[in-house]
Amino acid sequence: MEKIKMTTPLVEMDGDEMTRILWKMIKDELILPFVDLKTEYYDLGLPNRDATADKVTMDAALANKKYGVSVKCATITPNAQRMSEYNLHEMWKSPNGTIRAILDGTVFRAPILVDGISPVVKTWKKPITIARHAYGDVYKATELRTGEGKAELVFTDRDGNETRKTIYDFECPGVLTGQYNKDSSISSFARACFNFALDTKQDLWFSAKDTIAKVYDGTFKQIFAEIYENEYRARFEEAGITYFYTLIDDAVARVIRSEGGFIWACKNYDGDVMSDMISTAFGSLAMMTSVLVSPDGKFEYEAAHGTVTRHYYRYLEGEKPSTNPMATIFAWTGALRKRGELDGSSALCRFASRMEAACIATIEGGTMTKDLALLWRGQTPTVVNSEEFLRAVRATFETLEQ
Ligand code: NAP
Ligand code: MG
Repeated sequence: MEKIKMTTPLVEMDGDEMTRILWKMIKDELILPFVDLKTEYYDLGLPNRDATADKVTMDAALANKKYGVSVKCATITPNAQRMSEYNLHEMWKSPNGTIRAILDGTVFRAPILVDGISPVVKTWKKPITIARHAYGDVYKATELRTGEGKAELVFTDRDGNETRKTIYDFECPGVLTGQYNKDSSISSFARACFNFALDTKQDLWFSAKDTIAKVYDGTFKQIFAEIYENEYRARFEEAGITYFYTLIDDAVARVIRSEGGFIWACKNYDGDVMSDMISTAFGSLAMMTSVLVSPDGKFEYEAAHGTVTRHYYRYLEGEKPSTNPMATIFAWTGALRKRGELDGSSALCRFASRMEAACIATIEGGTMTKDLALLWRGQTPTVVNSEEFLRAVRATFETLEQ
């Protein structure tokens, strides 16, 4: 079989620990034999981030801005324990945070569904994609413990004019928090959601609590509505998809009764909580894909899980762990398909979809990693390690291609 040619390079961001091991295995077994792979490689593994004073993360994000599509391996976000483990010069920031800030992007998470692993919610037939506004609100809040006394909200504009509102006149000690968000960030979030809905031809739901937070959540609702009317309504109608806003509690009730197959845009905190609920209810974090989409149409694909440290330590002791590579494979296929779409390469798009089909067929045929075997409802599964799973996928792919 002749290898598929690529015109524009994919930005490849390598990572850490078990996922770094999987990364190479996936490339060797499932990509390089079939695709004449063109990538611009950035090593975001922690040792290289430390050696380059994290410049490599910045460079990778800028390359993503330039070429439009990247695929990223999971990376360690350093903490105190990692500082000593890797003898780091500094506690480098989360690469995902850096990349998200540079691309001004929104993260969309969607589960991979297979027959034999049924969601906890019986009505769910199609994936539910969560879009989380990863900026501001409680994550950037300023907090205080108070004594007795008056708490006020004070805003001073550039000319020195003050606006004051009493929050509460405390007759006993209590707690206080100040939160903010920016119109520019909310607009970027809205555009990323509308674009992603058009891109994946799915309805978009957005939920907040504007009946209570009339100004704060009301602004989110209004910005979404204005951008939709002015920039997207016509394209949504043409694509046969819908946008609607509803209260967060109503959204929760509707989501549980739904069939799935839509995007649920959430404010930062709601998205944090709901994405864990959705991924657990669909089965496993190891089957959750993630894509960062910028308002100007740049894409970064990755798995939603981390570097699977516990499996890596066992790997270092000579074990061959049964780590599930599905989400990382789908990061690669997602990125290759998007590259194919942008470059007009139907061969690349087809390859990506066929490889995903081979992955799903392999699991549905009863061959899977340990994490899935625990959720499996079919005949007794064949439990394999990561390497064996990738070989089985390759064999399925080659059979399907014959
Ligand atoms: P994790 O790597 O997602 O793993 C947590 C546990 O989930 C694992 O121990 C494993 O459970 C299970 N798991 C996750 N992915 C799996 C897979 N593909 N196959 C099978 N089981 C899987 O989270 P963590 O241990 O909290 O974090 C480890 C490192 O990853 C941290 O340094 C963190 O900073 C980083 N991280 C990076 C990203 C990113 O780059 N996007 C995201 C999150 C975390 P069992 O051990 O029970 O089998
Ligand atoms: Mg969370």
